[in-house]
Amino acid sequence: MKRGLVWFTEDLRVDDNETLLKALEENDEILPVYFWEDYAEKRQFSIPRMGNSRKAFILESLNNLQQQFQSRGGSLMMVNGSAENELSRLCQTFSVRKVYTKKQVGSEEKMLQSEIKQQLLKIGVDFQTYSTSTLYHPDDLPFSVRDIPMLFTKFRKLAEKESKVRTPFDAPLRINTPHFEVFPAEMIERATPDWMVGGEDAGQQRLAEFIWKSQSIRTYKETRDQLTGLNFSSKFSAWLSQGCISPRRIYSEIKRFEHEVVSNESTYWVVFELLWRDFFRFSFKKHPKAYFLLNGLGQQALYTQFDPSKFEAWTQGKTSESLINAGMNELRVSGFVSNRMRQILASYWVFGLQQDWRYGAAWFEHCLVDYDVASNWGNWAYIAGVGNDNRGGREFNIEKQTQLFDRDGEYRSKWNTD
Ligand SMILES: Cc1cc2nc3c(=O)[nH]c(=O)nc-3n(C[C@H](O)[C@H](O)[C@H](O)COP(=O)(O)OP(=O)(O)OC[C@H]3O[C@@H](n4cnc5c(N)ncnc54)[C@H](O)[C@@H]3O)c2cc1C
Repeated sequence: MKRGLVWFTEDLRVDDNETLLKALEENDEILPVYFWEDYAEKRQFSIPRMGNSRKAFILESLNNLQQQFQSRGGSLMMVNGSAENELSRLCQTFSVRKVYTKKQVGSEEKMLQSEIKQQLLKIGVDFQTYSTSTLYHPDDLPFSVRDIPMLFTKFRKLAEKESKVRTPFDAPLRINTPHFEVFPAEMIERATPDWMVGGEDAGQQRLAEFIWKSQSIRTYKETRDQLTGLNFSSKFSAWLSQGCISPRRIYSEIKRFEHEVVSNESTYWVVFELLWRDFFRFSFKKHPKAYFLLNGLGQQALYTQFDPSKFEAWTQGKTSESLINAGMNELRVSGFVSNRMRQILASYWVFGLQQDWRYGAAWFEHCLVDYDVASNWGNWAYIAGVGNDNRGGREFNIEKQTQLFDRDGEYRSKWNTD
């Protein structure tokens, strides 16, 4: 019997999952595994990498993935421990001949994958990775990752002109896995918004809600900069970050909506934003380490200092700016803030408080449920003026932003409760 192991990471879905489909195609049986490590133990700049909100979302996503497997005749194995310690042992115990997994984008994760590949080769197990998280498949781009343009507009124009988004794969109907005891992922307390439920089913429901039921996609371009509410933006990000939904599935639904209902600037603009996501992911592949450096892609960082008391005030919503305090409270408590608010908060840390931008990025990494290595560090570097920007960063005027987006003070009073 041929058996393959599918190592799940940020691809917690059965729909449009090429890794899973290839393993099913090449084997009689697959062993789907997720390794749960205590990320709270991992720190950068002394800040724990993952807060409870994201942890809860991942655990919910895993339980939903388990249901996806069980409804198709199989089970997902959740292992407490790291892939580097557990994967080889599992391959030997279950006589696995090949491991299938998603290609990683972060530098540490990539290094880990290549170490694991060597470990597995030593015991005669093949290792294959697949690109499953971008809208455009990297093989379809009109340039190699090494030659990706530095500026987004050039990237977008070339990609749109010379590449096509592939059709998403349907979910498999049946999944054969060996028998093993299944334990549900433990649930933990969370204070995230009600709509932010982890898992593929919830992600698909949100897709249907935003595009078809509320048809909020019709006006997305005009509403996307708002600070509060459910439908002013898609809210796809957390499901995208954990791979509960694929960008190609979103794209194919947008195309269907454009064909059957309406096609306008707003429907296109969601695709435009997904292209930003792709852009940062591909740029990360080109510069796997640079986005974590003070000077980023090579420009001189404006501010290099770190003042712990300023960090405390910023993170705890105790600065002199009530808009900033509201945003930081929302981020800390709910694990989500709108794109405009992220820009304002990041700009204030860099230009208002004049601090090393990387501490801000690390705090966002801790708090955000939708944390994504490329989108977070890429956007932060961009705002700080050390990323894919040739304008020296982006500073937001707080007074002006308040007038534009919270003139009546509703947002500030909602999140400034002391
Ligand atoms: C400082 C900063 C940090 C950020 N950190 C993250 C992060 O860790 N994870 C994350 O997913 N996004 C991040 N973003 C991008 C963006 O703010 C969020 O993707 C967006 O607010 C999520 O809400 P939404 O799904 O309703 O987005 P929508 O406005 O509905 O956009 C649709 C999708 O397009 C993508 N997208 C939108 N804007 C951007 C952008 N600027 N860069 C990359 N992709 C984008 C997202 O996948 C999003 O779900 C960050 C932005 C800033 C300024």
